[in-house]
Amino acid sequence: MIENQEKLQYPEKTAVGFAHEIKNPITAVRGLLQLLANPDLPAPKRTLYSEVAIEELDRANQLLNNMVYDNTPLSYQTLETIDIKAAVNKAMLSYEQAIQVKGIQLQANFMSSFKALLPKIQLSQVLVNLLKNAVEACSENGSITITVSKDDNFGIISIKDNGCGISAEALDKLFTPFFTTKKHGTGIGLSICKSIIEEAQGCIKVHSILGEGTEFIVKLPLGY
Ligand code: ADP
Ligand code: MG
Repeated sequence: MIENQEKLQYPEKTAVGFAHEIKNPITAVRGLLQLLANPDLPAPKRTLYSEVAIEELDRANQLLNNMVYDNTPLSYQTLETIDIKAAVNKAMLSYEQAIQVKGIQLQANFMSSFKALLPKIQLSQVLVNLLKNAVEACSENGSITITVSKDDNFGIISIKDNGCGISAEALDKLFTPFFTTKKHGTGIGLSICKSIIEEAQGCIKVHSILGEGTEFIVKLPLGY
């Protein structure tokens, strides 16, 4: 495990960071198994949910391998060229059960597609953490919109919800490791997102109005 002074730079490499990140795929697999238990589920959905569940287990395994064998910073890990549309669709599927239970309307708009250049597992971590926060912020029947677009140099992913919003005071501390306003929060998700995105030479910004909703905008250098 890393030294104290590195904790703020690489929160995902702390014990609580690892535990947090491994909880996400476990939660996803649990939700997918619940969906698979429906005897009326159409065969194509059954196949899709099974595939995503296996991928999520592989992701948990890879995170554990990183913890046991590899503490190197992301810049030394294998970069992959990842199709953003596939990654967004997978993140949405992995949260489908929680989204259905809460009655949330989730939609994705692919204005353009792009390939991102970073380790695939890290892109999943970013998308899942932002989606998870959006789901947690929404009340029953809330809505979340993911929009994918690009400009000359960056691929852009916006995740917008009409949930509780963020106070001006909380906005200042949002990306600080271990800052949380939730009863059972860890305050590690956004700091992990920031660390991964900055390591990939991208940036993350947030716009929020208390009581109205929040938008996170992630910019990643184009992979081609
Ligand atoms: P945690 O979810 O464990 O609290 P995070 O680092 O993921 O930790 O988030 C930190 C804090 O940022 C949350 O406790 C919450 O106050 C705020 N936050 C993050 N995303 C949203 C969102 N979409 N809507 C409202 N608040 C949010
Ligand atoms: Mg969170």
